[in-house]
Amino acid sequence: MLAFLDMDGVLTDFVGAACRAHGKSNPYDDAAAQGVWAMETLWGMSGKEFWAPCNGEGFWDRLEKTPEADDIVKLITDTFGVENVALLTAPSMSGFCIPEKRLWIRRNYPQLEGGMIFTAAKKFLAGPDRLLIDDRDKNIEDFRLFGGKAVTVPRPWNRMHALSDKPLEVLYRVLGGLQEFLDESEG
Ligand SMILES: [Mg+2]
Repeated sequence: MLAFLDMDGVLTDFVGAACRAHGKSNPYDDAAAQGVWAMETLWGMSGKEFWAPCNGEGFWDRLEKTPEADDIVKLITDTFGVENVALLTAPSMSGFCIPEKRLWIRRNYPQLEGGMIFTAAKKFLAGPDRLLIDDRDKNIEDFRLFGGKAVTVPRPWNRMHALSDKPLEVLYRVLGGLQEFLDESEG
């Protein structure tokens, strides 16, 4: 099986960085915001207003790791083999985004540097024996619709938000079950 691992909201704390860029507090601290994907909606601004401070030089390079990032990378590479794991991440419209994401990966997870795919259209990579690990409901739905398997990383902005205090535990359980299922179908 080939595994596609998302970056923003999974390995990188995009929400934290966007809050700092806007000088605003985390909108997901409000219980009513749970499960709402678009931060700009929660902040009552347009997409253009939202992205303006996030697209300057250094924004993508300075993203911090999520607390679980190292463990998620280890879990996914141990489970599928590093040669079967690619990072699959949507670039913003900023010209700084892709080069800075490349540098971020080289600095933090050089073992994955050879497998980096930049597209927002993740469904085009879906298919049998392909697994997406992502934090966006729409990406998960589309990937499944086109024949792939998909695992949601529980976060306050997706439908798994009730479990967002323990994303790693959820991934361990889901991937453990998936591995058993695959072993059984092969045996
Ligand atoms: Mg994401």
